[in-house]
Amino acid sequence: MRTCDRFGRIKSGFERDIRFQLGHAERHEGSGPAKASAGLAKAMRVNMARALSIHYSKCRLCRR
Ligand SMILES: [Zn+2]
Repeated sequence: MRTCDRFGRIKSGFERDIRFQLGHAERHEGSGPAKASAGLAKAMRVNMARALSIHYSKCRLCRR
């Protein structure tokens, strides 16, 4: 699958945020904030999948 620059930027932005949340969850393992971060990371993955599929469905460059 060949995708455009914008697709890559959306993806890498989400991935950076997800990594940040997972890193936070690891550093504070077992605590309340860690659970919140882990949950947030999961929600971000869902958001990323949705954002990418919406982009893909609308983007002529990705679908060429
Ligand atoms: Zn695209």
